Amino acid sequence: MVENNCSECNACVQICKHQAIELKVNEEGFSYPCINIEKCIHCNLCIEVCPMQNGDKVKLSNLKVLAVQIKNNKTLQKSSSGGVFSLIANYVIKNNGIIYGAAWNAEMQLCHIGVETEKELERLRGSKYVHSYIGNVFQDIKVHLKNNRLVYFTGTPCQVAGLKLFLRKSYDNLITSDLICHGTPSQKIFDVFRHNMEIELNEKTVDYKFRDKSIAGWSCSSSSSLTIRKNGKKHFHIYNRNMRAYYLAFIKGDITREDCYSCPFTTVERVGDITLADFWGIDKFHHFFPNQNNGVSLVLINSQQGINIWENIKNDAISENSSIDIALQTCNKNLYEPTIRPCARNDSYKKAFNNFISFRDSYLLQENPSKIYISYYKRKIKQIKCIEYLWKLINK
Ligand SMILES: Cc1cc2nc3c(=O)[nH]c(=O)nc-3n(C[C@H](O)[C@H](O)[C@H](O)COP(=O)(O)OP(=O)(O)OC[C@H]3O[C@@H](n4cnc5c(N)ncnc54)[C@H](O)[C@@H]3O)c2cc1C
Repeated sequence: MVENNCSECNACVQICKHQAIELKVNEEGFSYPCINIEKCIHCNLCIEVCPMQNGDKVKLSNLKVLAVQIKNNKTLQKSSSGGVFSLIANYVIKNNGIIYGAAWNAEMQLCHIGVETEKELERLRGSKYVHSYIGNVFQDIKVHLKNNRLVYFTGTPCQVAGLKLFLRKSYDNLITSDLICHGTPSQKIFDVFRHNMEIELNEKTVDYKFRDKSIAGWSCSSSSSLTIRKNGKKHFHIYNRNMRAYYLAFIKGDITREDCYSCPFTTVERVGDITLADFWGIDKFHHFFPNQNNGVSLVLINSQQGINIWENIKNDAISENSSIDIALQTCNKNLYEPTIRPCARNDSYKKAFNNFISFRDSYLLQENPSKIYISYYKRKIKQIKCIEYLWKLINK
């Protein structure tokens, strides 16, 4: 097993007709390909489809930059930024297509799945800051594309590049969205934090939102967990110290996959037809959005396919033209450089696995959870006041 220059997109495993490649998990929980020399016929297909080695072949030049917010407020609240993923996904559903993205399974493991209805779409919505297991979805996508089905694939840039290289030809019925990406921690380290929360609460996690706007809005990202008690009752948590520490460790880049620190996709040349990101610092550049605190997306359109899709969805969005120069001035550093590897990364996984409490608490020293509770209840009260006001108006 060579632990170098692999993003775990699984393209090599899926392209190999001889089942000569297996992913093996290292002690941090990251998988790397391992070639069975006896089965390998040296066709080199695994190298040709590797996004870390051949990603440049599928890079696109940017055509248009936009600031976008979906008009549907309910969907906006459930989305991590401006809800552009949902705009595209709704278009695909209306056209009888299938959408692939990251979703929790029943064991809270993150994997890519395909969905075909608006109800199922709920599972894909929202950023999950963990590596998503691709499994065999590239093979499934190829079958759908050959059957002329419209397919929308969303993922990290390495996953999108992996898919495009795996397909080895372009399809008019494929739409891809990549994300400006900070990097991904392993499922194993996420599970350590989650298990500790479950032990403390004596409850089982059934859903987890990394960015729940209902707590403190869009810009002050806060997480929420939905757990289930032994009596079957569901419980919503707006703050949990274990999960908060995970989020802070992720943001600092302390638990990112080693290969992400030299990511070749942190450039303005993108791999997806449409790149999705948060428009951090929107108030400095665009003043057109009435409801900025609910989230605005930075959207990079990188192909004719992307332009066609935008033409079809733009009426359901509030948008303003932007530019690549502005995009580079937002706080989206991963548009032009990989996350910088901090010294803390040297032993972060060992500390998390061997001395969890002190590792977790090291992130919480500057934390003031009461701020999060105050912000949440303030928002709730505002909502009630708004309802009261509307009620008065109706009565008048
Ligand atoms: C690991 C990760 C790191 C990110 N880093 C940044 C960043 O540094 N700067 C920035 O501006 N934006 C970043 N984003 C993107 C941002 O958080 C939003 O996902 C994006 O703006 C789309 O928001 P939305 O409101 O349009 O859609 P949402 O409804 O929020 O949809 C999110 C989409 O992302 C996909 N997705 C969620 N989790 C994963 C995952 N783990 N792996 C692959 N696909 C996933 C879902 O399938 C869905 O299609 C990151 C996202 C992820 C998943």
